[in-house]
Amino acid sequence: MLEFIQVRKSFGATTVIDGITAEVKAGEVVVVCGPSGSGKSTLIRTVNRLEAIDSGTIRVNGNDVHAPGTDLNRLRTGIGFVFQQFNLFPHLSALDNVMLAPMQVRGTSKSEAREMAQALLARVGLAEKAERFPGELSGGQQQRVAIARTLAMQPPLILFDEPTSALDPEMVGEVLAVMKDLARQGMTMVCVTHEMGFAREVADTVWFLDAGRVLERGTPDAFFQTPQHPRAQKFIADIR
Ligand code: ATP
Ligand code: MG
Repeated sequence: MLEFIQVRKSFGATTVIDGITAEVKAGEVVVVCGPSGSGKSTLIRTVNRLEAIDSGTIRVNGNDVHAPGTDLNRLRTGIGFVFQQFNLFPHLSALDNVMLAPMQVRGTSKSEAREMAQALLARVGLAEKAERFPGELSGGQQQRVAIARTLAMQPPLILFDEPTSALDPEMVGEVLAVMKDLARQGMTMVCVTHEMGFAREVADTVWFLDAGRVLERGTPDAFFQTPQHPRAQKFIADIR
């Protein structure tokens, strides 16, 4: 589904992605963790070309993301991306936020888009908030609208970059619950998160990044119980 092959990326003299080769299979849930500045955000931003790469190859469903001929709009509509900041349109209701992309990008009819948006808001537990504007919703509710909006494009792959980091603690659980639900339903997900409980419970595979390299990659059990690399051992000791 998603392949990184010898991917490198620098900002000026700083190497941020240092030759990463890794694969995400269809239906797999990968949690990417590692210290601040290790390259987690940069890595997942390269997948839909929010960041260019210097060398290597990234393929999504066999398509070379960074090839010059790749249709960027088409690429991005096929990859969901959920950010720390929800980036909802403030002047649109929750329902309209979810309806917008299918209508604009896919040409879905208004009635069909509305029906789908209502179903998706129900799926994230917000059926009764459909007419609310983002400013009238809590952070956790806004993030759930953002997830519903991503799902409206029916992407085969969703990337999450610290989706709960901007939330008050009491709202983290409701967003993680939606993500767990997606994972259980077989969605392919790459999640950058500091929520190690989520990693333990939901991840198929944990990637530990340090200085732009995947130092450790394994099941949550293997990663948390028998980390091999000293830096991974320290990371786990520090979060305990
Ligand atoms: P965090 O856990 O703090 O979010 P991260 O693992 O997501 O960290 P990145 O945001 O990928 O880390 O950043 C990796 C490195 O690249 C850092 O040293 C950062 O300062 C640098 N960096 C990121 N974006 C840019 C940019 N646009 N220009 C220059 N340097 C950048
Ligand atoms: Mg980051």
